[in-house]
Amino acid sequence: MSDKLLVIGESRDGELRNVTFEAIAAAKKIKSDAEIVGIICGNQNLQNQGQEMIYYGADRIVTVQHDNLKTYTSEGYGQALMAVINEENPAGIVMGHTAIGKDLTPKLASKLESGLISDAVDIEHNNDELIFTRPIYSGKAFEKKVITSGIILATIRPNNIPILEKDETRSGDIQSKDVDITEIRTIIKDVVRKASEGVDLSEANVIIAGGRGVKSEDGFKPLYELADLLGGAVGASRGACDAEYCDYSLQIGQTGKVVTPDLYIAVGISGAIQHLAGMSNSKIIVAINKDPEANIFNVADYGIVGDLFEVVPQLTDEIKKALQ
Ligand code: FAD
Repeated sequence: MSDKLLVIGESRDGELRNVTFEAIAAAKKIKSDAEIVGIICGNQNLQNQGQEMIYYGADRIVTVQHDNLKTYTSEGYGQALMAVINEENPAGIVMGHTAIGKDLTPKLASKLESGLISDAVDIEHNNDELIFTRPIYSGKAFEKKVITSGIILATIRPNNIPILEKDETRSGDIQSKDVDITEIRTIIKDVVRKASEGVDLSEANVIIAGGRGVKSEDGFKPLYELADLLGGAVGASRGACDAEYCDYSLQIGQTGKVVTPDLYIAVGISGAIQHLAGMSNSKIIVAINKDPEANIFNVADYGIVGDLFEVVPQLTDEIKKALQ
């Protein structure tokens, strides 16, 4: 088996996403002395992104630059990555469990005839076994999985594996590889972003989520203020999305995004099982609800029984004072 692990970098608007650095840390957990080779595909700014990956623990970088890689398509990225994988012959490949990771890695697994462990939240060793932990049944249980043969292919859930400390003295080779990317049958005409600008919900360390209790689109404004103050993002229950208080791109839960921030503040959310499926693995959960029997209190670390229209502004004021 080769002593090399590939980490697929993922960027947005030319900037690497945090989960890329978490994937490097995950690769180190898989084999601490492996050579970590970062791969970056795109059409601009690849050199800088490669350097960032090196600062966070990658040893060497391969970039594939092509106009057909300007926006993500599984065909384009699949061709670029398979060319690098075939040349590098790694023992394993790691990337973030993001929309792109979820789309791309099954395709790679099928091309490599390998298994795939998706959505891993932890990696550990037990004697000779490499064990991945992943949530199942919408986060109600965890399973431990091993890959018994072939290449190790895994995606990791954002916000679970701590990144390595940035070390700007690190250096490494950044090579560009020419890949002839043909046969793109899907043409991206336009990317329409529905999510609001600012912190990406799936990678946010702090999320303030509003439910039907927020009562209107205007009712979400204090949540945005609190999120801005804490450097976080705003999310929502499906109840709030269905009531048209906010866009569905904010929905958290079984049929929305799965998030694991350090702090999740649920405001006017009852805590239906489908909502818990998307947030119950958050590190600290604070619930604000006027109903002391609300199910959300069963998963909350801290509960505030009260009217959210009084509690949220008070909380914001107190945090402002503390930050002064
Ligand atoms: P409600 O259940 O109506 O709760 C509102 C809460 O606000 C109440 O607890 C109330 O006490 C509180 N409240 C009201 N006024 C105030 C006030 N002034 N101050 C403080 N508290 C107040 N839901 C999701 O969230 N995500 C999903 O991905 C999802 N997927 C689903 C998939 C399926 C197949 C199905 C069937 C359902 C799904 N749902 C999902 C819907 C889910 O079952 C619930 O209906 C939804 O989560 C309820 O949203 P809510 O908690 O905002 O609303």
